[in-house]
Amino acid sequence: MAPSPAPAPDRTADLEAVLAEVAEQTRHLAEEGRVQEQPEELPSAEPTRFGLALAELDGTEHVTGDADVGFAIQSVVKVFALTAALRLVGEDLFERVGREPSGDPFNSLIQLEHEKGVPRNPFINAGALVVCDVLLEAADDPYGAVAGLLGDLVGEEATVDRTALEAEREGSSLNQAIGHLMSSFGNVHHPVEEVVELYVRLCSITVTTRTLARAARFLADDGVNPLTGAAVLSEPLARRVNALMLTCGTYDAAGQFAYDLGFPCKSGVAGAVMGDVTGRFGVCAWSPPLDEKGNSRAGRAALHLLSERLDLSLL
Ligand code: GLN
Repeated sequence: MAPSPAPAPDRTADLEAVLAEVAEQTRHLAEEGRVQEQPEELPSAEPTRFGLALAELDGTEHVTGDADVGFAIQSVVKVFALTAALRLVGEDLFERVGREPSGDPFNSLIQLEHEKGVPRNPFINAGALVVCDVLLEAADDPYGAVAGLLGDLVGEEATVDRTALEAEREGSSLNQAIGHLMSSFGNVHHPVEEVVELYVRLCSITVTTRTLARAARFLADDGVNPLTGAAVLSEPLARRVNALMLTCGTYDAAGQFAYDLGFPCKSGVAGAVMGDVTGRFGVCAWSPPLDEKGNSRAGRAALHLLSERLDLSLL
């Protein structure tokens, strides 16, 4: 007897109900992860926080859980820093940073020495530091080029969380080391302290699960900000950012994310995973406890189940 086919995913499902079901089935997975060491007064230090949000291109938003609680954007900002740099210098950026997955942790130094100070991609720390160096060169207001972009995408001004910023500054030795190594190869042009300061300020911008889902929509909409109708990136460049997110956005777990979710994502150590589904949504899941690769445990499981329930894989 032929095996019975798997139930067809539902593209017209009641999205609120699907989000609630996904949250119920996955949030407990946070229990097995660990929260990244950070100031205890930040909500991202609370292991039971969980938010899930979908932002449709027409502006309709669906959220569940702690979707309106603020946390530091952390590595998810690398998507917006890359976008800001591409707007300023275009694909010349890739003369200084590669487009290959690293297969190593996000803050690893190892490949950099072998590869003469050229980071594998813009989503590992080394790559993001080069992007910051490019912003310092090409933008009148390098912080504003990214924060202003994020503000336009979300529809409200981006602000820095002072507590997160202090913690980032204190914990920046490895980023300083990465910066100095690249500087010794001539791939960082500004003083390393300046480059790292820009990077940690960007990592400390406050976002919520809902605002990240909203901010991701331009990548689902051929580079256009659905809030304003303005082109953020050309359609080919928006595709390229998506390609980099799919292959490099979740560190050395990007292959597994592509396999399970099938749409581009970017994660950060405060527990957010932001993604986009071409022509449909921006999406974000947030749960602070991380797995051994630094990705949100429950966030990843939530997006995996959401992808199955709503047929979100583009592959
Ligand atoms: N601030 C963190 C760092 O650079 C961001 C890293 C991350 O979210 N993976 O170490």
